[in-house]
Amino acid sequence: MSFSASVLTLYPEMFPGALGVSLAGRALEAGTWSLEAIQIRDFATDRHRTVDDTPAGGGAGMVMRADVLAKAIDHSSPPGDPRPRLLMSPRGKPLTQVRVRELAAGPGAVIVCGRFEGVDQRVIDARGLEEVSVGDFILSGGEPAALVLLDAVVRLLPGVMGNTVSGDEESFENGLLEHPHYTRPQEFEGRQIPEVLTSGNHQKIAAWRRAESERLTKERRPDLLAAQPLVK
Ligand code: SAH
Repeated sequence: MSFSASVLTLYPEMFPGALGVSLAGRALEAGTWSLEAIQIRDFATDRHRTVDDTPAGGGAGMVMRADVLAKAIDHSSPPGDPRPRLLMSPRGKPLTQVRVRELAAGPGAVIVCGRFEGVDQRVIDARGLEEVSVGDFILSGGEPAALVLLDAVVRLLPGVMGNTVSGDEESFENGLLEHPHYTRPQEFEGRQIPEVLTSGNHQKIAAWRRAESERLTKERRPDLLAAQPLVK
């Protein structure tokens, strides 16, 4: 069974978008994963195909209706569908590489993309939507967030990345940011590649990379160190 993504959106034309090219695009063509973009508006019942309404209690903007969204969810993810149901949301749990790995190991995901001010709380509760954030900033809609999440997941699917070792050594995989990289030419605008990297001494190289990882993480993301004490 390949990873199956269903994305519920008011802008299905945004998919596969960036996921139709490069690694993800080739994997999509090869059937390593599948993607269906579902137009939420198709589940509206009135003549004007309304999907949103004014917020109860007043205030700016519009809110996505619970009834229309619930119909779209029930259509794409009937009871018994083993896939987690996600709602892209700035209020959600920040997405991490750990959650990305879990998702990649599972059957797929049903992903709801919000628009306007967001969605009626009752459909979040009634359909058990897991709110996922891609960062502490506000996008105009959940679609770019869904693309980000799927990109992170798809590259982990078996066979998608040619060199699987490179996945394990990346930032966050061991609770650290990655060390800096260098490649030819040996000299660039007077700057040399650190000597140790061209020494051929693999033990020294590994030690240098580890030390650089720790230095960068301490400098830039002390929160990562606090969350996961270093195992020496
Ligand atoms: N009024 C909301 C923001 C709505 S933005 C608030 O203040 O919290 C509209 C939609 O964009 C959201 O429903 C969500 O689906 C998506 N979105 C915006 N920022 C996001 C983020 N950081 N992560 C994930 N989804 C986001």
